[in-house]
Amino acid sequence: MIRTLLIVALVVWALILLGRWVARVLAPVREIRRAVQQAREQATGAATSSHRPPERLLACALCGTRVPASRALHGVTDELVYCSERCRDAATSRASIQAAG
Ligand SMILES: [Zn+2]
Repeated sequence: MIRTLLIVALVVWALILLGRWVARVLAPVREIRRAVQQAREQATGAATSSHRPPERLLACALCGTRVPASRALHGVTDELVYCSERCRDAATSRASIQAAG
């Protein structure tokens, strides 16, 4: 009877020790896993933030071609935007002809 109790107590104690050991061994693994997951989330976050939203398109005042706002050329004498220097020059010369005529 006492022997059985002793064996049960020993087994319980061994299980407790084993549980502590497993927790201690797994703690760094959990840390690493968390760090990896954080890095992955940061990477995907950086990827989505570096993937900029589509740029606003502006229509050329002369030909109507849509160009991204950063590539659009602003008129020299007016507030209009143009797709290319050719369109801007053509519009400028046309405006000066109209002003002269
Ligand atoms: Zn144009």
